[in-house]
Amino acid sequence: VIKQNNRNNYKVFESSISKDFKSMLRMETELRKAMKEQQFELHYQPQKDIGSERVVGLEALLRWNHPEKGYISPATFIPIAEKTSLILQIGNWVLHEACKQNKLWQDQGYSPVVVGVNLSAKQFHQADLVEQVSSVLQQTGLHACYLELEITESMAMSNEEDIIHTLKGLRELGVHVSIDDFGTGYSSLKYLSRFPVNKLKIDKAFIHENRRQNKAIIKSIIHMSHSLNMKVIAEGVETEEQLHFLQEEECDEMQGFYYSKPLPPTHVTPIFQFVKC
Ligand code: C2E
Ligand code: MG
Ligand code: MG
Ligand code: MG
Repeated sequence: VIKQNNRNNYKVFESSISKDFKSMLRMETELRKAMKEQQFELHYQPQKDIGSERVVGLEALLRWNHPEKGYISPATFIPIAEKTSLILQIGNWVLHEACKQNKLWQDQGYSPVVVGVNLSAKQFHQADLVEQVSSVLQQTGLHACYLELEITESMAMSNEEDIIHTLKGLRELGVHVSIDDFGTGYSSLKYLSRFPVNKLKIDKAFIHENRRQNKAIIKSIIHMSHSLNMKVIAEGVETEEQLHFLQEEECDEMQGFYYSKPLPPTHVTPIFQFVKC
């Protein structure tokens, strides 16, 4: 009886694996097509300075506008693209598009903001990343100080010397670097103090769950950022109560549905408070 059960379980397991594998292959083919047929879009989520209440940044978030399925979340397709070299093509498109759009807004007279671009691990670990970023800035005409690259703790923790070399190269260019989803990985304080990083982004999980431990963690991330001369932004702020807590703890910036969801480019311009001319 036991043997039979095992065999049955095995079959179920096997068929679900091959199903996943097939849907992964299908998704990969569709991603290639999406790239060719320009089905990707960037939406932008505003980031507000908590003190002045001005919009100081916009995070570019990738959207796949599938002809039949509608918008597909990056959480679904980025991990698949990451398993192939497709992520490099997609990531390069994102970087170029975000810089181009930000420069366009500046040329239209809107007050300048920083555009945030998420990097995947493969992208970040390319030996010529600094040259690539520099060339995108040159092609689009965006000044380096209006670009912020977001990496995660796990990306920053591997191969210390190479990472520091890349981060220093980016800093020399004048590009900002932030650590996304901070607090969910394993960064040690020793590493953090050695890395030339401009900002920590507190992961939304700490903001969402209203627990005493989370508040203590948020407070210590804010204090640590400031003592390491970094700025700190809270992600996923959804309520006034959360904002008030961050205000009291002197968090620098906030991003979240409480102020705005990620917006298509045409909906972004009304949120720029200061128009130059
Ligand atoms: P992330 O970089 O941490 O981006 C923040 C995510 O939180 C976004 O999800 C955003 O829509 C969502 N969010 C913002 N405010 C709130 C809030 O108040 N409440 C809640 N519940 N969620 C909020 P999204 O756009 O689905 O992106 C998911 C992840 O996909 C991103 O997390 C990022 O890791 C990745 N991603 C997005 N665009 C790109 C890209 O161009 N390249 C790469 N490599 N990864 C990307
Ligand atoms: Mg991000
Ligand atoms: Mg992330
Ligand atoms: Mg995040």
